[in-house]
Amino acid sequence: MRAVGLHPDVIVVTSRFWQTTATLVRSGEEAFCIDSPVLPDELEILPAVAEQAGFKVVGLFATHGDWDHLLGRYAFPDAPLGAAESTALRMRDDPGRTQRLMREFDEEHYVERPRPLSLPGAQPLPVPGHVSIGEQELELHPAEGHTADGMAVWIPWASVLVCGDYLSPVEIPMLSPGGSRDRYLATLSRLEPLVEQAAHVVPGHGTVLDATRAAAIHREDRAYLEALPDAKLPLARRTGAQKRIHAENVERLAS
Ligand SMILES: [Zn+2]
Repeated sequence: MRAVGLHPDVIVVTSRFWQTTATLVRSGEEAFCIDSPVLPDELEILPAVAEQAGFKVVGLFATHGDWDHLLGRYAFPDAPLGAAESTALRMRDDPGRTQRLMREFDEEHYVERPRPLSLPGAQPLPVPGHVSIGEQELELHPAEGHTADGMAVWIPWASVLVCGDYLSPVEIPMLSPGGSRDRYLATLSRLEPLVEQAAHVVPGHGTVLDATRAAAIHREDRAYLEALPDAKLPLARRTGAQKRIHAENVERLAS
């Protein structure tokens, strides 16, 4: 697992699996952990990474309700989880989903976990809106289209955008079940002014981006979505795995 400091108050860790990112953000005596790494050893070491840097994690955020972003309670078992209302509802409607999909993944990849995941639902956050942390406030923006739910987090004093599963350098735009091209494009438009101001953009999967690179991916992703179903894959993301995602996007769009 990689850990990178973007600002005295922002640390990003990147999982060895799917390059899933988790972002620790702090103000004063309070820190939140946004999303989560995937593998058990990464989750085990995360509290030490936070503590060594002086981040006292009091809460968890999820950018959206996909299981691989919801494992933070392995690292911080007492921390409450906050998410967009759309995500909280999605979790409530199918409460065992995260555990079920995690188990399928674990069986497939021979991953063993120390205990079952206890995840008693999410508290709905004001999206769009603000949530206070220490002496500062985080800005929450709706981010739907990849799935039916989600939010992006703007950290104003650090100029960091944590955008969930958008603007990934390793994954093309993915229309998951519940996703929508129109809402995905609307989210890209909403994120655009934030990308322009950002010192760093943290995608849900892949390396941290500067504003220039994030803007380039933003352009590619918009062009890809607008050209569906006949879209060409962005040059740097033309792998077998991305071709499979593309085929699923085409199917989703037709249905
Ligand atoms: Zn994801």
